[in-house]
Amino acid sequence: MASFDVIFIGGGPAGYVGAIRAAQLGMSVAVVERDGLGGTCVLWGCIPAKALLESASIAEKVKKAKDFGVNVGETSYDYGVAMKRSRAVADQNSKGVGFLFKKHKVTHIKGTAKLTGKNSISVKLADGKEEKHDAKKAVVIATGSRVKGLPQAGLELNKTTVLSSDDVLVLEKAPKTLAVVGAGAVGCEFADVFAAFGTQVTLIDVAPTILPLEDADCSAELTKAFKKRKIDVIAGAKIGNVKIGKSSVSMTIDAGGKKTDLEVEKVLVAAGRAPNIEDIGLKEQGVQVTDRGFVKINERMETTAKGIYAIGDVAGPPMLAHKGSREGVVFAELLAGQHAHPVNYGNIPNATYCHPEVASIGLTEAQCKEKKLDYKVGRFPFSASGRARTSGETEGFVKIIRDAKYGEILGAHIIGSHATELLHELAVARENEFTVEEVDLAIHAHPTLSEAVAEACLDSLGRVLHI
Ligand code: FAD
Repeated sequence: MASFDVIFIGGGPAGYVGAIRAAQLGMSVAVVERDGLGGTCVLWGCIPAKALLESASIAEKVKKAKDFGVNVGETSYDYGVAMKRSRAVADQNSKGVGFLFKKHKVTHIKGTAKLTGKNSISVKLADGKEEKHDAKKAVVIATGSRVKGLPQAGLELNKTTVLSSDDVLVLEKAPKTLAVVGAGAVGCEFADVFAAFGTQVTLIDVAPTILPLEDADCSAELTKAFKKRKIDVIAGAKIGNVKIGKSSVSMTIDAGGKKTDLEVEKVLVAAGRAPNIEDIGLKEQGVQVTDRGFVKINERMETTAKGIYAIGDVAGPPMLAHKGSREGVVFAELLAGQHAHPVNYGNIPNATYCHPEVASIGLTEAQCKEKKLDYKVGRFPFSASGRARTSGETEGFVKIIRDAKYGEILGAHIIGSHATELLHELAVARENEFTVEEVDLAIHAHPTLSEAVAEACLDSLGRVLHI
């Protein structure tokens, strides 16, 4: 039995970042992780998916290389090689977390943990043995989430024809045909990857648009871009009559008053994830969960059981790595008695790394309308950006929604090349309540894609220069 100040259950971006911050603040810290360090993000999410998207980006660029004066001869695409590279990148990142643990003297206990009291846990090790540990200050549930199928639609995961995001991350070969069910960030990213590797992709969502949480203008622009790349986009669709064969899946898609039959080699179910709340002793310790199965927490990330905290995916949406990491940092600082800046749930960036990329922060225009806010919109298309023209990536735009009276940024929406990087200027602006005028006052280098951000701000003021 060992004793620590804090024990984190789960070594994903919520748990491992919280652990590092707690150790920096002088606490003795352990992280119990049953799988590899880094969690879903490092091993089955953000990192391997982005590595595959980089392969997809190269595959798409090669198709246009001739226009840039580069003759690459005959090209072929091998998903298996891209997959192995993505696994290697994920492993490298996971080892990096191990290195950080050593540096900060965080103890990694490899096993499966269960709460046994307010201050204690038991851990089942790989060899079946059990250990008990206690935490003087806090136990933190950072158990994350997992893939799930869509049994209600007849799509139970089976590892052969009906796959999860975990499964497609280790596929050796791109299928000839693929239906992606669920067109949120994960669905759109994999639709992009497989389309680049030659798969005929059908992207389906029950919501009226793809990326339904994004501003409608971005969803419409992405739909246009995907259709141009021959991805079949079907939104507002109901799936029925699912038949799962040995090497194919057939279904009926009911959309826009029209029924069509679809037969594909594989289906990827990308319609949400389930929080990991089972078998960790929540009920026994008085830790309550919401109707949707997330652990209930207050603004200090404390659960309904005193001394037990929860952070990351398991503690509720948005299920994003950077949201979990920030919760981990704020939790550790509060525990150390610091006056931590609270997690600003209203200023969490969204990023989808398909091509073109989509990134946003704050309110959509529909939300501004719903709240009856007095707002003005500024837009700047990348087709008018010198830098975008040099790279031949002129799809998309920057859209800024500002408060009509004071010029504060209510929402920012970018679709286009490097949108996920460009967004952060606006995240900083919003965090500091800068106005659109103040964003433009900072001189933007020429030629850069960032100029489009400043121009969109100017457009919202009726002073755009380059359109
Ligand atoms: P997790 O990362 O899920 O980690 C929880 C860890 O707890 C796991 O390693 C698990 O093994 C461990 N665990 C669970 N129960 C126990 C137990 N009883 N004992 C010991 N260990 C346990 N988010 C982004 O922000 N950007 C992206 O680009 C992005 N891309 C994604 C792509 C895909 C394909 C997927 C699936 C997700 C993506 N996400 C992305 C979401 C992101 O991965 C999650 O939001 C993030 O990993 C959540 O972090 P977490 O620490 O809460 O949980």
